[in-house]
Amino acid sequence: TLVNPNVDSALSVDSDSTTSFVYNRYHHLPLDAQRQKLPVFQYRNHILYLLEKYQTLVLIGETGCGKSTQVPQYLHEIGHKVCVTQPRVAAAVSLAVRVAEERGVILGEQVGYAAANTSLRKVDTDIVFMTEGVLLREMFASPLLMQYSCIVLDEVHERTQMTDVLMGLLKKIIKKRKNLKLIVSSATMDAEFLRDFFNTRDKTQKDKPSTSTIMSMQGRTHPIEVFYTEEPVPDYVKATVDTVIRIHENQPFGDILAFLTSQEEILTALETLRTYADHNNDTNKHRSHFPSGIKAANMLVVPMYGSLPHYKQVKVFQRTDSNVRKVVIATNVAETSVTIPGIVYVIDSGFHKLPYFDPAVGVESLTVTSVSRHNAIQRAGRAGRTARGYCYRLYSEAEYEKLPPSVPPEMCRSDLAGVLLQLKALGIDNLLRFTFPTPPPARSVLCALESLYALQSIDKSGRLTAAGEMVAELPLKPMCAAMLCRSGEWGCVDEALSIAAMLQVDNVFLKPSGGKQSIDAKLSRRNNFEVAEGDIIMYLNIMDAYLKLKTSGDDKKNARACKQWCDKYYINYKVMEKACDVRKNLEKLIRGKFKIEEKQFEGIDFGSGKTERVLKCIVSGYFPQAACLAPDCTYRGLRGASLALSPDSCLFRVQQPKWVIFASVSSSSGVTYMRDVTSVHQAWLLELAPHYYRQT
Ligand code: ADP
Repeated sequence: TLVNPNVDSALSVDSDSTTSFVYNRYHHLPLDAQRQKLPVFQYRNHILYLLEKYQTLVLIGETGCGKSTQVPQYLHEIGHKVCVTQPRVAAAVSLAVRVAEERGVILGEQVGYAAANTSLRKVDTDIVFMTEGVLLREMFASPLLMQYSCIVLDEVHERTQMTDVLMGLLKKIIKKRKNLKLIVSSATMDAEFLRDFFNTRDKTQKDKPSTSTIMSMQGRTHPIEVFYTEEPVPDYVKATVDTVIRIHENQPFGDILAFLTSQEEILTALETLRTYADHNNDTNKHRSHFPSGIKAANMLVVPMYGSLPHYKQVKVFQRTDSNVRKVVIATNVAETSVTIPGIVYVIDSGFHKLPYFDPAVGVESLTVTSVSRHNAIQRAGRAGRTARGYCYRLYSEAEYEKLPPSVPPEMCRSDLAGVLLQLKALGIDNLLRFTFPTPPPARSVLCALESLYALQSIDKSGRLTAAGEMVAELPLKPMCAAMLCRSGEWGCVDEALSIAAMLQVDNVFLKPSGGKQSIDAKLSRRNNFEVAEGDIIMYLNIMDAYLKLKTSGDDKKNARACKQWCDKYYINYKVMEKACDVRKNLEKLIRGKFKIEEKQFEGIDFGSGKTERVLKCIVSGYFPQAACLAPDCTYRGLRGASLALSPDSCLFRVQQPKWVIFASVSSSSGVTYMRDVTSVHQAWLLELAPHYYRQT
């Protein structure tokens, strides 16, 4: 076996919040045999033939059939230089690791990966797995992507904002570079739409053949029987739990997959079902059948969501004993990103959580909404993989008919400031003429341009400014990037780097578990860091303390000290490490590349003077996201939206400041919660953004 020296460090950078789930039913076979067992193997020559004949190939296939790992290798085998894009860092890294292993090569040489904060590749690497953002950045240096002869856009069904931007840009590139091949791969059935989008044949030349085609590798599915409720259910989490139990006690053997929207909901359902299972499994020792006549089986309940630790994910795929029924409670990761074997029953709550941009608030938030018919069909399809399946929809047939046919792509429901700025930086000035696969709403485009103008990233005529160029190059949202770029003027580059890094990662505090007393004790340790200014300065203090431990003395000892410190304060070590990586990368750009000059402030350099400068620096980037306390004790955003402080904010339990700035929001049950909040003075808003605020 090959000793692959880079794999361990690659997998340790894989601390992305969404881990990739992999199930390999042929793991007992040698690697070559495993490769040949995959459904895609039979199509190898056909795929290569179609790519010879057409410039673009739309590849449709079930998750796990081998699209991402095999197709790039087939292309490499006939001499292509291949770039494969992924929406997530974790997937890019683990695919590169897997493919290097299958080819028996050292990771980072023939096969490599690249993401915003980490990469392992050489100039002559033949197969590179990268995040979508990295490919976009490569277009800055090389607009026609001459370094590749084939691009694979993977997981296109997710229709992330970046996927859509890349699709628009690649459409331009393939028109100019006829020898560049493009594979667009998707797990669902939007094939014709994709094929037509990439058909670059001139409209006047109808007699010429299309330049794009479809190949579908859909496996055989079995019939699926769908059931609806008669009435809408008042509480879908409870209804999900009840339905699981009903199926378990009344329906023949077969595993169950239920869809909920979030980790919290999943854990709630899990707790109730585990209590049921403990009791039921005990009772089963004394009976052989349920009252329904169905053979009594034990129940094993397992969760599945993006941020679940790796060792727990494995359980989802493990086979159970013949008298144990497995119940998987999942978010929409189980809809397209993985296939779980053995599922016979699917329960569809009818909801999922997606980021939505509300121009009235001016910020994107995660919102629970009804699924589309497309999602519902995809969910039901998870049941008929190996035998006849059953799908229980927790909504009525009339409601199903009223669902929208599909979810609008992220481009149409998200904040566009970041992507529009990047397109500007790529020289695409006339955004109205850019062909997006689905054009975003005019109102969002306008809102984004306004916000870029306020940040002085574009000028009056919409052209990129010098400051805008830097903002576009930083892998951050524009407001955060603008804050960082101004930090030199406030003499607080280090602080701004720490803040920007901390705002890119998940919650640093571990979710406390255990009884109420132990939860309270753990929460109280957080108080050590809480400060009157709010969350953002708290993050800064946490990062400061962490960096001190991390950089004093020798590395091994430091790592241990950092871990102990995290344990003590109930802080997530992996998240802190990730924040440090992000910080290092940002520092390279800010100090190394942009060489931002830092103003020196003498005398008052410690204590409140410095904190005030840091706060002003935050305001100079985030000023459009301010809110003011109204007489009714709720906050109002600038555009009049009603906002609440998140209960997670450290300002939640103290006297609420009159003016605040927030870095993000989340919504639930119709309330928009401000997160990452900092208290500011109204005068600062007037002083630092006179073009945006007026005294009334
Ligand atoms: P697709 O892109 O069609 O979803 P992949 O090419 O990612 O499929 O994976 C194909 C198969 O390769 C999987 O079903 C699994 O058997 C195997 N596989 C992929 N990645 C790994 C991995 N990291 N470890 C073990 N097996 C893997």
